[in-house]
Amino acid sequence: MFATECWRRWIVCVIVGITGACAFAQAPAPKAPAPWAIEIHGGAGEAEWLSMDQATADAYRASLARALAAGSAVLEKHGTAMDAVQAAVEVLEDDPLFNAGRGSAFAADATNEMDASIMNGIDTTGAGVAGVHFTRHPIQLARAVMEHTQYVLMAGPGADAFSKQQGLEQEPTSYFFTEMRWKEFEEVMRKSNRPVPARPAGAPPPPAQSSKLAPGIFSHLFGTVGAVARDSSGHLAAATSTGGMQGKLPGRIGDSPILGAGTYADDKGCAVSGTGVGEYFIRLSLAHQVGELCRKGEAPQHAADQLIHTDLPALPGGEGGVIVLGRTGMPVWSNNTLGMFHARQIQGGQPEVWVK
Ligand code: ASP
Repeated sequence: MFATECWRRWIVCVIVGITGACAFAQAPAPKAPAPWAIEIHGGAGEAEWLSMDQATADAYRASLARALAAGSAVLEKHGTAMDAVQAAVEVLEDDPLFNAGRGSAFAADATNEMDASIMNGIDTTGAGVAGVHFTRHPIQLARAVMEHTQYVLMAGPGADAFSKQQGLEQEPTSYFFTEMRWKEFEEVMRKSNRPVPARPAGAPPPPAQSSKLAPGIFSHLFGTVGAVARDSSGHLAAATSTGGMQGKLPGRIGDSPILGAGTYADDKGCAVSGTGVGEYFIRLSLAHQVGELCRKGEAPQHAADQLIHTDLPALPGGEGGVIVLGRTGMPVWSNNTLGMFHARQIQGGQPEVWVK
């Protein structure tokens, strides 16, 4: 009897042992946790880099560092790449130095029409909004479209109404007005022989003496913002937000709200956010092309350089830059303009900020 019981227990042990060993053999090899990483940009441009004084450069440096820290804080607490890119972009949308949210460029009728998009590398879901007027953080609206509708792009009054209905923070149009951007707008309108419209209702009266802001800032025609991130689970995300090109015709939509043009993220490839003359980014499906090269095994730097230094300048007027982050490694960037505001940080590393 005792012998039978021992024999039975021995068989059970063998079966459990084999099953355990099989289960172990089938378990995926434990992956080293991917270091989180983030890169942000604050637009690419030309003449401003030549004439930027120290005070202006310092102001941009501090702003970029603040936005980077907001994104890094999310990743450090094991937050998602989506939340990190959104957090960083929200800080830049609130910052009047950048052409997104508060501080947006003006359309030719003196209104602010803002565009934004966000994309999740896990499943390539995402959405954009174009030509919105009242949402304090257009990037939140893009995410709301992604999460609460079946659409990937909403525009104009319909998007404004959806924003209110979602309970997102609304602002009067005067909130988005900044003297710096208005001066730049006046200059663009004059240079293109178009009449400068009246200052928008609610804007403060023009300053008595000409502004003390550095002249370099006035020629800053770009200033779009964006972010790419990889979280500690290895997932990627990208986000972009802009007031668009100064003096654009009302109704013009650039690349920033369009998935595959100004924003792209795919865990199988890379995350991309662009800045530059949007028409060319749309024609090239630029962000998607960078993503596809990554997916086919190109290094993110090679993919970015191929589009920015070969394909984009092949179109006369094709100017701009991208930030790119792959499944491993450091975030990279590429621009064919004189400069691009950007900053990056990787887990365990120091923040790095480039202003000039
Ligand atoms: N890409 C933006 C647009 O065309 C502008 C920019 O990046 O500065 O609207």
